[in-house]
Amino acid sequence: MYDFNGLNEECGVFGIWNHPESAQLTYMGLHSLQHRGQEGAGIVCSDGKEFVSERGLGLLTDAINKTKMSHLQDYQYAIGHVRYATSGNKGIENIQPFLYHFYDMSVGVCHNGNLINAQSLRQELEHQGAIFHSSSDTEVIMHLIRRSKQPTFEEALKESLRIIKGGFTFAILTKEGLYGAVDPNAIRPLVVGQMPNGAYIIASETCAIDVLGAEFVRDIHAGEYVVINDEGIRVESYTEHTNTAISAMEYIYFARPDSTIAGKNVHAVRKASGKRLAQESPAETADMVIGVPNSSLSAASGYAEEMKLPYEMGLVKNQYVARTFIQPTQELREQGVRTKLSPVKDIVHGKNIVLVDDSIVRGTTSKRIVRMLKEAGAKEIHVRIASPEFMFPSFYGIDVSTTAELISANKSPEEICEHIGADSVAYLSVDGLIDSIGLDVDSPYSGLCVESFTGDYPAGLYDYEADYKANLSDRQKAYLDQNKQYFDSEGNLNV
Ligand code: AMP
Repeated sequence: MYDFNGLNEECGVFGIWNHPESAQLTYMGLHSLQHRGQEGAGIVCSDGKEFVSERGLGLLTDAINKTKMSHLQDYQYAIGHVRYATSGNKGIENIQPFLYHFYDMSVGVCHNGNLINAQSLRQELEHQGAIFHSSSDTEVIMHLIRRSKQPTFEEALKESLRIIKGGFTFAILTKEGLYGAVDPNAIRPLVVGQMPNGAYIIASETCAIDVLGAEFVRDIHAGEYVVINDEGIRVESYTEHTNTAISAMEYIYFARPDSTIAGKNVHAVRKASGKRLAQESPAETADMVIGVPNSSLSAASGYAEEMKLPYEMGLVKNQYVARTFIQPTQELREQGVRTKLSPVKDIVHGKNIVLVDDSIVRGTTSKRIVRMLKEAGAKEIHVRIASPEFMFPSFYGIDVSTTAELISANKSPEEICEHIGADSVAYLSVDGLIDSIGLDVDSPYSGLCVESFTGDYPAGLYDYEADYKANLSDRQKAYLDQNKQYFDSEGNLNV
């Protein structure tokens, strides 16, 4: 059966136009985006005539080895992808970019995010005779483009972008140009940079621009696409119906601390969220603050600074283990936590600790860590989470698409405290999060997507709506009831 929940993807995309070392630069760009996906990687290159592609499973270094790289020399145009996938669609057939050869053109395409109407579009397309060979949403857009009656590729792309819904970015390569597109809410990020030789690049995060010594040019805003070709760069809109809602989870967890999203550096945001968390929920008896490496270290340093407590290295991360979430089963996930983190016994023994983490999703990680720290002799452990309670699933490409897997959908902070064996648990407030990110409220390009904390879905739910509504937990219902502003008069989500 088609794997509905296997569609979610939080990935990294990259593209470069007109550089003699396009493949090497794409490789380096993808390497800096590796944190966005470790289950597969691929590069498509072109010299304006021929297209070549290499891809593979695992980390970039495994997916594209020396031999594969040698096939990608001497091309000037390239796109690349690192892939994060859930169980069920982990095969090589899903590794992007996809490369299509048509009678009149070739197209390389890759995307980040999740299309929330992909399932219905797919069914419609299949009824019309389309044949899919992967479970990736990327194929959907390609079918839409090819079926479009528009006279040019660009017009067909525009039309297709108006049909798909959700949180997404695309990087597309043809012999005419490199295209980058962002969803109408700019939920998922995409930026443009320029190499010292003038070549333009697009990337999911600014860290990929920095690593190449390129200059940041601009964010691609909600409902925009860029066309990069031999004439330079052109930014266009494919829809007037935009409402910027940048994913708060990019700031909280996904992006690299040295990246900047919508003008806000990720480390600075995380640090501010730690400070605010300390103001909202100080742990008075604590001797020290420790963070869960790596994504929580910035928030932990902010918490410590605000509390005037020492910031200590109480946990060490084995840097060679992929992110815990990437393991497909719960059993492996739990195993993963153990191989990934170790307590520094001499530091934590006999101490009252504030343990700062960026989020609690399933609750597996914090439970393991609290136990580990207690076994290492820690006295009290006060868990402080630098984001609000993760109560609602996300359908916009962060791999948490069912209520069942969210511990906060069913348990209060007190119940979670007991479940994970901590001495206290507290979360950042939604306002605290919004203030810490500190987007410029007057800018038309600012606005946040905090759907996992409020149940407010700016891009709608489409194929997920029925299932989502049918599975709302009592705790979620109670929250939504108290926050009626998220619903319209007919009880539909006010999106
Ligand atoms: P858990 O509560 O065991 O599900 O894991 C929570 C941890 O996973 C957090 O500390 C984050 O560092 C990380 N995390 C949060 N959201 C995600 C996500 N959407 N995908 C992967 N990892 C995540």
